[in-house]
Formats: sequence, structure tokens, C-alpha cells
Amino acid sequence: MIWHKQWIFGNWKMNGNQADNAALLQGLRSVSHDNAHIGIATPFPYLSQAVQVLADSPIWVGSQDCSQFAEKGAYTGEVSATMLKDCGANFVLIGHSERRTYFNEQNQILRKKIDNALANDLIPILCVGETLEQRQSGQEMAVVAEQLAVLQGLSVNHIAVAYEPVWAIGTGVVANAEQIAAMHAFIHKEILSIMGENVTIRTLYGGSVNANNAADILSIDKVNGALVGGASLKADAFSAIIANAQTE
Ligand code: PEP
Repeated sequence: MIWHKQWIFGNWKMNGNQADNAALLQGLRSVSHDNAHIGIATPFPYLSQAVQVLADSPIWVGSQDCSQFAEKGAYTGEVSATMLKDCGANFVLIGHSERRTYFNEQNQILRKKIDNALANDLIPILCVGETLEQRQSGQEMAVVAEQLAVLQGLSVNHIAVAYEPVWAIGTGVVANAEQIAAMHAFIHKEILSIMGENVTIRTLYGGSVNANNAADILSIDKVNGALVGGASLKADAFSAIIANAQTE
């Protein structure tokens, strides 16, 4: 069922504190929409708080990353997918552009993270997207194809990908409808050719989604949801985006 709704997922990034989170989570508890599957990716220390407050709600809680290393061991500072599952997580963002930029995460490491997530029954949401320079030089499809190649040989029936043009993240600049439609169609086509025709796909658009542009974005063909950064930090703004989820 969730694989046939629009996914509206929030990415808190490195934001929050226990008091603000409590208010935000309480505000989200009552939010629902028949057409939307809702999730939030919290910083690691607040995951258990979110799981606790949202315990009897259908809202998914997840993290923004997981370790490339499996289970446990001498990896100071790392958090494994096994630990995330143990704390009640449902999903994990993999390869967000900020991780690619600041931590130089590339396909080899990202594939280990995807494998660890799947081995622990967590849904990985693979984030892909081109920089402004790459788009201006007409390389956006090639860049995204290379990022999607991390899925080669993966044996799953369902896959979730967030298309987030780097130049649209946190900038207030949104890709236009033609750009979004073309890239989402391309991502669907690529995934079907990599993973086979029977795979069920969710492609979320991310990049400055807010209450004012959500309706237009979510009505674009093959946009199966949104990954929302800044606007997911306020319950009313996030709820207003969720209210625009479309029937598919
Ligand atoms: C994000 O962090 O994934 C994101 C899309 O951020 P924003 O909505 O703030 O652009």
C-alpha cells in the first residue's frame, strides 16, 4: 500500500533539540492524508525520541545516513544500520548531496550502506542529483545515470530514489516542471532497465519544496512524492505540503 502513495518525507539535517523536537513531533502526530505516506529523517540522537512520540502513528522515522560497516565493531563515531533498526527506524537516506559533498561519498561506499540497510530491513532512499555546473554543461542525465548505477545487481522488488538537484537544495530555487518531469521519467526508465520491469519505484523530488509550490510539483508525472528539508522543521509548513499529496 505505501508503495502506491506519494511519499512526503522530511529531512531535519543537523537541526533540532529535545524541546523543539517534542513540539514538532506532537504537531505531526495528528497529521495524516489518505494519499500520503509520511516520514521524517532525524539526526541520530533524536531518533528514539521521534520513535517514542510517533509510536502509534503511521509516520515513519528514519535516519539521514548509516555506516558502511555492518552491525558493530571498532568504528568510532559510526552508527550501523543494525543499531538504527534496533532503535525503531524504518528507513535511511543514502547519498544525500551533503554527504556526497562534505564526506566524498561515492558509489562503492554507498552500495555498502544500501546493502546494510536492506540486510536490516530498512528502506534505503537513494538521493541523486546534479550540480549547477553539470546541468549547465548538459551532463545532468549522465551524472544521475552514474549515481543510479549503484543499484546494479541489487535484488529487491521496490526501490525509492530522491531526485534532488544540488542547485535547488536549500536555495529557494526550484527546478521547473519540464526539468523535473524529464529527470523523473529518465530515472524511472533507468531503474527499470537496471532492476527489471517488475520493480516498484518511488521517485521523490527534493529541493526547496514548500507549501506554495508543493501542489504543482506533486502533480508532475512520475513525481511520487517529495523530500523536504527546511520546510519539514515546522509542523504547519510540513502539514501544508502533505495536504497536497495526489492520488496516483
Ligand atoms: C534536502 O535536504 O533534502 C532538501 C531538499 O532541502 P530543502 O527542502 O531545504 O531544499
